[in-house]
Amino acid sequence: MPNFDLVFREARILENGADTTADVAVQGGRIVAIRPCVAGTSRIDVACAGRWLLPGAVDMHVHLRDPGLTHKEDIASGTKAAVMGGVTTVCDMPNTLPPTISLATLRAKADRAREVAQCDIRFFVALGKDNIGDIATCIGEPSFAGVKVFLGATTGELLTETGILERAIDALPVLFVFHAEDESVLLRNRGIAGPTPDVTSHHKIRPAQAAVEGARRIAALARPGMRLHVCHLSAADELRVLEETPGLTCEVAPHHLWFTADDAVPAGNLLKVNPPIRVESDRTALRSALADGAIAAVATDHAPHTLAEKSQPYLIAPSGVPGLDTMVPSTLMLVQQGCLSMARAVDALSTAPARILGLADRGLIAEGLRADMYLWNPSSTWTVKKKDLATRCGWSPFENIKLAGRPDGVWILGRRVA
Ligand SMILES: [Zn+2]
Repeated sequence: MPNFDLVFREARILENGADTTADVAVQGGRIVAIRPCVAGTSRIDVACAGRWLLPGAVDMHVHLRDPGLTHKEDIASGTKAAVMGGVTTVCDMPNTLPPTISLATLRAKADRAREVAQCDIRFFVALGKDNIGDIATCIGEPSFAGVKVFLGATTGELLTETGILERAIDALPVLFVFHAEDESVLLRNRGIAGPTPDVTSHHKIRPAQAAVEGARRIAALARPGMRLHVCHLSAADELRVLEETPGLTCEVAPHHLWFTADDAVPAGNLLKVNPPIRVESDRTALRSALADGAIAAVATDHAPHTLAEKSQPYLIAPSGVPGLDTMVPSTLMLVQQGCLSMARAVDALSTAPARILGLADRGLIAEGLRADMYLWNPSSTWTVKKKDLATRCGWSPFENIKLAGRPDGVWILGRRVA
C-alpha cells in the first residue's frame, strides 16, 4: 500500500509568505505533509521542477446564470471555466431566474450543483423587500455563502432600502456583500450623456460618485463584529471611504485592474459593465491598493452575456463581462510585470477570499487543509484566444492580450480536474 495518494515533488511554495521548495503530500483529499523531502511512496508522483504549487483560487463573485439564463452560462460550463483557470471555489450571485431568495431556491441550486459542478460552489441569497425570515432559515446550509445586497440595482425587485438593510444586518449574523452604486446618483445622471449616449459615456452616466455614496452608506452601517464586504471597487475615491472604516473588506475585478474607458472605444459594449470601467487614475489607484493589501481580494464578477446580446445598441446591451477563464492568469501577469508580489497575488486570489467567506479549510498550501491547488510555470504566458475559453458565452475582454500562462494542472480534494 502506498503511503500517500499524491506527492508533489520539489514544488515551489509560499511558506509564511517566503519562497520555499518542498515536497507536498496529499492523502484522503487533504494536505498531510509539507517537508523538504517527504519519505514514503505515493500512488501518483508529480515532478514540479521549479513550478509553483499554489492554493486553488477562491472567486467570491460569479454569475453562473443557472437557472433561467443558461444560454449565457450554466453551472457546468461556468465551473469548467473556473477549474481550467485555477479557480477551485466559486460563490454564485442570486440574480438568476428565479432569483435565490429563500431556502427552496438555495437548495434547488445546490442540488443542481451536486450533479454538474466541476468545483466547489456556494450561493449568495439576495436581500429583498420581505425575506429576512427566509434568509434566516438558510443559515447553516452548507451551500449558503451569505447575503447579497443590491444598493443600486437596475433590477427593482432586488433593490434594497436602508431600513430593511439595517434590520437585516441586525437580525442575521452572516457575511453581507454589497453592489454599492447608489441608485439616487444614477437617477440624477440619466440624461448626462445627451440623447444618443454610447458606451464611452458609461462611466459618466454611472459616475464614481455613485460608488462613493454607496460605500459611505455601507460604512455608516459598519460596527465591530459585522462582516460587511464591498464588491468590485472601481474608483480611487471609494478607497478613501474604506480607509476610514476599519473592518470593511472589499474586492476588485480584473477588468477594473486592466482596462480604462479609452479601451471601450474599440471594444464597444463588450466593456459595458457595472460599476463602469473608469479612467487611468482609477485603474492606477486600484492596482496599488491591491498591491499594498488595502483591497483584500480579487474576484471576477464573472457576468457572461452572448455576443449577440452585446451587439445591441448601447442602452439595450446588457452590462457585464466574463472573467473565470482569465482571473488567475491576469493576476499572475501583474506579478510577472512587477506590479504585485507573489505573496500578495496568492493572498488576493485564495487566502483573503477564503477568510472573508469564513472557509477555514482552504486558501493556503498548509497541512490539514483541502488539497485544492494548481501547478503554475512562472515563465509561461498565454495570449487569450476565443478557442481556449470554456465559458459558454465564448468571448473575453482579454482576447489577444498576453497574460501569464494558465495552470499546468489543477486538483480539487487531491483529484486532478484540469
Ligand atoms: Zn456581480
